[in-house]
Amino acid sequence: MLEGSNRVGGRMKAFELSGYTLEVGAQWIYGLGLNPIVTIANEYGLDFVEEEDTWTFRDKNGNDLTDDGDAEYELYEEVIEKLDNATRRLRCENTGDFTSQAGLRIYGWDAINNIAETVEFFENDFENGIESAAVSGKFLYPFEVFREHQNDEWHLVNDPRGYSYIVEKLKDSFITDSDNILMLNKIVTEIENWNGDNSEVLVHTEDGSIYEADFVILTFSLGVLQSEKVLFNPPLPKWKTNAIHKFGFAQYIILYLEFGTTFWDDTQAILYVQDRRGFFTAWLNMNTLFPDSNILQVSMVGSEAKAANRMSDDELVSEAVKVLRNMYPNETVPEPRNFTTFRWLSDPLTMGSFSYWTPAFTLEDMDDLMLQTGNLYYAGEHLNKTNHGYVHSAYTSGINTALDLITCIEDASKCNGLHNRKYAADHSKDCE
Ligand SMILES: Cc1cc2nc3c(=O)[nH]c(=O)nc-3n(C[C@H](O)[C@H](O)[C@H](O)COP(=O)(O)OP(=O)(O)OC[C@H]3O[C@@H](n4cnc5c(N)ncnc54)[C@H](O)[C@@H]3O)c2cc1C
Repeated sequence: MLEGSNRVGGRMKAFELSGYTLEVGAQWIYGLGLNPIVTIANEYGLDFVEEEDTWTFRDKNGNDLTDDGDAEYELYEEVIEKLDNATRRLRCENTGDFTSQAGLRIYGWDAINNIAETVEFFENDFENGIESAAVSGKFLYPFEVFREHQNDEWHLVNDPRGYSYIVEKLKDSFITDSDNILMLNKIVTEIENWNGDNSEVLVHTEDGSIYEADFVILTFSLGVLQSEKVLFNPPLPKWKTNAIHKFGFAQYIILYLEFGTTFWDDTQAILYVQDRRGFFTAWLNMNTLFPDSNILQVSMVGSEAKAANRMSDDELVSEAVKVLRNMYPNETVPEPRNFTTFRWLSDPLTMGSFSYWTPAFTLEDMDDLMLQTGNLYYAGEHLNKTNHGYVHSAYTSGINTALDLITCIEDASKCNGLHNRKYAADHSKDCE
């Protein structure tokens, strides 16, 4: 196992800030029930708490617009119900698609005012890491994650060891340090001879080492594959690179600010209503996870995340403080005592945050994205037909790919990658 960084966990990553462990990557667990990550989290005693589902809408003059926000949200929910029924049919017929934003409009929603746009942002862009105009409506609605896990609760990880603790424990359950199986700080730069012509696959790393293998499983993020940071020799076939580039990789940045005092609302979410969509819009009150921590989290996605990624730390913090002073004009908003963030967009081992389904991407494209090329197999969160983008997606993809490879090793006539290709929850009842 060659890992480019100095740790396991990838996009599950936490930093300590003023004594609190704060997740800068994955932090929500989606649904209990059949979510395999919940089983693992419970086994290793990971701490997580149910989302509170409380929010405040505040505009740039400090007005509390929560009642208006609630009214818009009710309308939004009605539209989503209609949209769910329509897209369910499109899926089972495997026809047509439109953007999530177009789907909302078709079924009666239009974000014509700032409050409605804030609702759309929070429910769409914030969830997908990208603007609703970029995401497939057919594959976003209905939101299958909760249906597949048979539970629709959201939980937030607040474990002092960080979410990636469960990855450490999983690793320890099958390898020990003395096995020398896991090698850290090994950045893969080139993959040679992958095309299965009876010679070994050669994997080159930045430090000049070359590793030989009969088969290789690639778990790079989609962003790393899209950025072409790893050279494939011979180049990957066009059908594979097309699928890689047609799928979407979102941008998502999380910033934490710690103040000596709390001056904000006591709801879990605080939404900034203003003219610029997604500009420091989604705030999470960390006091609801870590009482009296005086910490706020703000997330930006899509083009605003790109813009934030181009700012220096000082600019980012200063913009955040300006927004807070707009939201709370009657409070004394001090400078933060501490802050932390992580720039997934420019991290060469990630190059973005998580995958999203683009309107042009088809189920057949997903087969191409999943399918092995020669002796190269693929795994990761982006390889899932109904449930991509999450920690549990990455976990199930890893298992399916391992099963595909084992099947192929045991019987060379069965190297068709069927575990992955056929993996999708059975929604055939939707078509009756
Ligand atoms: C900001 C953010 C918020 C998120 N929020 C949530 C959430 O709330 N809930 C949720 O379920 N999911 C969330 N996700 C998504 C979730 O974190 C990912 O879907 C999942 O962790 C991806 O796992 P993976 O194994 O596919 O990829 P990764 O975790 O990215 O693992 C890939 C590994 O490959 C290594 N690597 C990359 N390139 C090379 C190279 N050239 N050589 C060697 N090694 C390399 C990386 O270092 C990394 O360890 C979030 C992600 C981000 C970034």
